[in-house]
Amino acid sequence: MAQTQVIQTPLTAIDLYCRQEADTASLAKQLAASFERFLTKQPSSHLNISLEGDLGAGKTTFARYLIQAMGHEGKVKSPTYTLCEPYPLQLKDQAITVHHFDLYRMRDPLEWQEAGFAEHFDVPGICLIEWPEKAEGTLPGFDIQIQLSAGADENERAIKINAITESGKMVLQEIQQ
Ligand code: ADP
Ligand code: MG
Repeated sequence: MAQTQVIQTPLTAIDLYCRQEADTASLAKQLAASFERFLTKQPSSHLNISLEGDLGAGKTTFARYLIQAMGHEGKVKSPTYTLCEPYPLQLKDQAITVHHFDLYRMRDPLEWQEAGFAEHFDVPGICLIEWPEKAEGTLPGFDIQIQLSAGADENERAIKINAITESGKMVLQEIQQ
């Protein structure tokens, strides 16, 4: 698999302005529905998604709405200390896992290898990764990058979604329609 690059040219991109948290929630729900369609049409496939932005930008909030929209009924805790939280989910007749990472506290890319995180990138489902830059070149490439940034008001956020691969493009095209 390709290594993470600092600059990647998206195949397609969506730019949105969320005026309140409910708009972020509804975007995450749309994306969740599109992920589900993709993973149902292509069983056993895997998508890598980065969540980028400063502390407080809304990465965990976005992941929480997304994971719950995909059918997880319990809490979605921030994986700040555990680095990774797995969510086993059932999509029609397919079992998938969403792995939610927060690599902010990762000190050494070796930690990544020792924890066996690389294996999570081969299982059917999705990896959502906050602070991917902390893993340097250890991570496989992304299909989609989600970039969140502060808006003019406390509850406003600018959200840009880039599709890097053909799989990512298929997912995004569904929400653009
Ligand atoms: P991060 O994971 O990027 O550090 P969090 O998701 O933990 O950020 O925190 C974002 C905070 O901003 C949450 O308290 C959330 O309720 C709040 N928030 C306010 N407006 C929005 C919005 N439009 N989208 C996402 N989060 C928002
Ligand atoms: Mg977070």
